[in-house]
Amino acid sequence: MKTAAEYRERIMALKPNVYMGGEVVSRNDPRFTPELNVLSLTFDLAQEPAYEGVMTATSHLTGERINRFCHIHHSVDDLLNKQKMTRQYVQKTGFCILRCMGIDAMNALSVVTHEMDQELGTEYNRRFLDYVQDFQKRDSVAAAAQTDVKGDRSKRPKEQADPDLYLRVVEKRRDGIVVRGAKNHITMAAHADEIIALPTRVMTEGEEDWAVAFAVPADTKGVYLVSRASSPRPRQSLPAPVADQGWADSFVIFDDVFVPWERVFMCGERQFAGRLALLFALFHRHSYCGCKPALTDVIMGMTALVAEYNGVEKANHVREKLAEMIGVAELVYAAGVAGSVNARPASSGTYVPDVIYCNVGRRHAGESTYHEMNILADIAGGLPATLPLEADYNNEKTGALLAKYIMRNPKIPAEYQQRCFRMVGDYLCSSWGGGWSVAAVHGGGSPIMETIAILGNYDLNAKKNIARRLAGIPEQ
Ligand SMILES: Cc1cc2nc3c(=O)[nH]c(=O)nc-3n(C[C@H](O)[C@H](O)[C@H](O)COP(=O)(O)OP(=O)(O)OC[C@H]3O[C@@H](n4cnc5c(N)ncnc54)[C@H](O)[C@@H]3O)c2cc1C
Repeated sequence: MKTAAEYRERIMALKPNVYMGGEVVSRNDPRFTPELNVLSLTFDLAQEPAYEGVMTATSHLTGERINRFCHIHHSVDDLLNKQKMTRQYVQKTGFCILRCMGIDAMNALSVVTHEMDQELGTEYNRRFLDYVQDFQKRDSVAAAAQTDVKGDRSKRPKEQADPDLYLRVVEKRRDGIVVRGAKNHITMAAHADEIIALPTRVMTEGEEDWAVAFAVPADTKGVYLVSRASSPRPRQSLPAPVADQGWADSFVIFDDVFVPWERVFMCGERQFAGRLALLFALFHRHSYCGCKPALTDVIMGMTALVAEYNGVEKANHVREKLAEMIGVAELVYAAGVAGSVNARPASSGTYVPDVIYCNVGRRHAGESTYHEMNILADIAGGLPATLPLEADYNNEKTGALLAKYIMRNPKIPAEYQQRCFRMVGDYLCSSWGGGWSVAAVHGGGSPIMETIAILGNYDLNAKKNIARRLAGIPEQ
């Protein structure tokens, strides 16, 4: 396994292809420091004996100890540990761990490349396993680029006015393929070693060129990463861990990018494109059943703390709302556990979590996001939105007065009250907080996508038969 310092060193050695605010920027730009802090944590904690077996795993290919973010799940315990790891990391960062997309993409590819080889006689799985070995050895960080820009949502890829609105193969050569298109919203692409591209939807006849999956180093010629960094407002005199964390997402443009065959994992097998798209989503929704409970833990913790500081923690409506949040966190986590325990091995040996449990968990989490924020805003009152700036608390005229008038519970020092409301403001009132709330709704697929997955896989007729039998109607 590599250290955070080794990771940072190799990321800084990538060729400059990150754009932000109208110019090419270094991957070391200070606006990216919060994202690098988050990603570095995934190397740091994996080195700590306390997290052995949770943040680390044993490679099924080499038997070596590896970072769990590089692992292909080979048991129920692997899935349970991935979920546990995700919740623990997100409790530390306060919003996201950023590194799960890559490994969710890898697990989906491990299944589908094997299935394609079995059915079509292709050799994608051997290629892919070579890639995995190298990935594990380098302790690579991968961004998963699935979401195409998609153009007119009512039209299929082949019906778009511009065929490049979904990533596609524009040329096949003896030594590889050339791809063109753009994926948007791609988390931490600016600090990934690798970009793994996957189809975003089912492809129908005539859409073979859009059925493409591959991995490229993030600084490959023709790849442009147009990035947007986001983090809480930096602290001046009251440093706080939450203010050191953040993320950057990228518009990833593939402007006629050459991909050698050994890095191509699907090319034209359109009948497997949907399987790959949905499997990535499934593994990612399983990850969400670990991270979203942690996000609720954070919002719930802030709500309970602010209620204590405001002196209303014993009020019935507050206790009821906290119980509601506990319900969301633990039901979503329980859905992930059920998804893990009911996992089945695919033909490749990869364990695939249960589709219904993961989707109901992710859907419940996504639909609860703004409700949780609403509860926090309700209990916190208006101060997170109007809290004077740190400098005013430090000013010799206004500082003591502001400290006097922020007081609620006299046992809690003024500085803690200020810290608490400043953090709640980060979550409720900043562009960073607004951004991650949207991520909590749409990341891993909008709630409608989970609804579609649930209805597509659930045996509703079995439930109708229960009703028929109880009503004395013949079952069908
Ligand atoms: C912060 C953040 C990070 C993300 N990170 C990643 C990442 O790392 N990798 C990645 O691949 N993706 C990532 N995503 C993308 C995420 O998966 C998408 O936002 C999500 O799938 C929705 O796609 P969209 O944004 O294009 O919205 P749209 O597809 O435009 O969906 C908006 C709404 O339109 C409706 N809609 C869309 N199409 C149809 C249709 N055909 N018929 C009827 N209704 C329709 C749906 O109701 C949907 O809820 C991220 C998103 C966010 C916000």
